Amino acid sequence: MKFRTKNILRELAKHLGLKVKFVSYFTDNIHGKLLPRERRILINANKPRCEHVYTLLHEFAHYLLHFKKPAPRRHCPWYLKLNWKIDAAADIASKMRRIIRFVLNSERGKEWEADLWAMCGLVYLKQFGGRSDLTAFLNRHPEKKWIYRLAAIATVYSETKQRIATAFKLLGMARHGLPGKAS
Ligand SMILES: [Zn+2]
Repeated sequence: MKFRTKNILRELAKHLGLKVKFVSYFTDNIHGKLLPRERRILINANKPRCEHVYTLLHEFAHYLLHFKKPAPRRHCPWYLKLNWKIDAAADIASKMRRIIRFVLNSERGKEWEADLWAMCGLVYLKQFGGRSDLTAFLNRHPEKKWIYRLAAIATVYSETKQRIATAFKLLGMARHGLPGKAS
């Protein structure tokens, strides 16, 4: 885990009031566990680092999306941005949206949602820590590649949306006069 990535994850845990503990007693098929009432995340210490990053993001997502509603929307712009990316992902096709809404109510849907959130997080963290965690994780989990594709599309899509919004803002400014003077 790159220093910067570690710092961001630590900040996020702190912001959410969650304690993270690495334990070695989990069996190989368990990556981590969220104990929402104790506000604690247990991570399987025997797994490689790329798994730690993903598992942490996945458990953060469970806490944010499935236990702590509504999420605090101050002071932490990066996960706000992430939530927006999830919205963008859900928005890609209206047909898909109906399916997503149906699926999200089920237990499997929650796993899927946490995975998508975590993947968007991994894509987001790439700009600070490089591709290594993402590449290593995808090599270990080829079955999650389609979630990555969706996250990548969502990222591009939300950035396009942002760019369009900025363009409109500039257009508005041009109409109202000089930038800065616009109300
Ligand atoms: Zn899960």
